Amino acid sequence: MLHNFNAGPSILPQVVFEEASQAILNYNNTGLSILELGHRTATFQAVMDEAQALLKELMHLDTDHEVLFLHGGASTQFMQVPMNLLDDKETAAYADTGVWSSKAIKEAKLFGKPEVVCSGKENNYTSIPKDFAVPNDAKYFHITTNNTIYGSQWQKIPNTSNIMVADMSSDILSREMDFNSFGLIYAGAQKNIGAAGVNVVVVNKNILGKIKRAIPTIMDYRNHIKEGSMLNTPPVFAVYVCMLTLRWLKAQGGVAAIEKINNAKAAALYNEIDSNPLFKGTIATEDRSKMNVCFVMHDPSLEESFLNFAKQNGIVGIKGHRLSGGFRASLYNALPLSSVDFLVSVMQEFSTLHQ
Ligand SMILES: *Cc1c(COP(=O)(O)O)cnc(C)c1O
Repeated sequence: MLHNFNAGPSILPQVVFEEASQAILNYNNTGLSILELGHRTATFQAVMDEAQALLKELMHLDTDHEVLFLHGGASTQFMQVPMNLLDDKETAAYADTGVWSSKAIKEAKLFGKPEVVCSGKENNYTSIPKDFAVPNDAKYFHITTNNTIYGSQWQKIPNTSNIMVADMSSDILSREMDFNSFGLIYAGAQKNIGAAGVNVVVVNKNILGKIKRAIPTIMDYRNHIKEGSMLNTPPVFAVYVCMLTLRWLKAQGGVAAIEKINNAKAAALYNEIDSNPLFKGTIATEDRSKMNVCFVMHDPSLEESFLNFAKQNGIVGIKGHRLSGGFRASLYNALPLSSVDFLVSVMQEFSTLHQ
């Protein structure tokens, strides 16, 4: 049996794999594969409707917030957000907490004036900035709620008067939050929502239509809202896998229930990192991510050997990102607590062998 700690695309519930496989062969006894159904059929419309309804329910969204399933991954949102929300001469505030935030800032420069109001760069992104001010006239304030590569996470969402925009690609639906307090949330699906190929955008429709720029049809959120995410052919299979994963999450008891398990998983692993003499964490304790746990070894020359030992034991995907080195164990919703317990036992066994 393998224990999959991949950072993304990443583990999904086993039941999702089984149902998705069946749907490829014969979708709901239609005699057709989900891959050969027209997206304008009632059959697929039901999938899209359910996926949107489940997301609204799981996030407790109000009627101002619209749910979209779009192409292009979270990286397309780096430009689509400022294209829709920011005029040329306007300022938007950005928190720079790692690689993904920096990419978002770079794209915003093409459309307006992003102002970096805080940065973790001087600390090599090992902590979340604490003391900073956001100008009142900033059109919106953009944060990356969880920094997938460095393994840090905003434990508390900053409270400012600005419209909040968040890249939640790697921690959406992992913890309770007042999602309605955000103007716009986006997330690539391949970490906590479903299969690669689609991203979710949750937008408060009242913040749209406030700029002068002409927006290309396919880039304008308002058109996607009007057409129910079917302005053009949606990524049908990816949306279907999202729907299955959201159904699974609801059956687990929703976000509050999964958050308890996520807290237990993170606590078990950080506890081992802190108590095992061979390992140490890389992020300031109070800012540690509960989704992507990054750690290194006191003796870096042992790292390759631990990686091989873990691999022999069926542990997949714990090699750290090339920028932060060491190890990264991603503990997304679908990863069971038993896999974390197993990783902990492998760390303990390795430590016994090397003392
Ligand atoms: C993975 C990730 C992205 C990039 O997502 P794509 O779908 O590959 O564009 C952006 N932001 C964060 C926080 C991520 O974890």
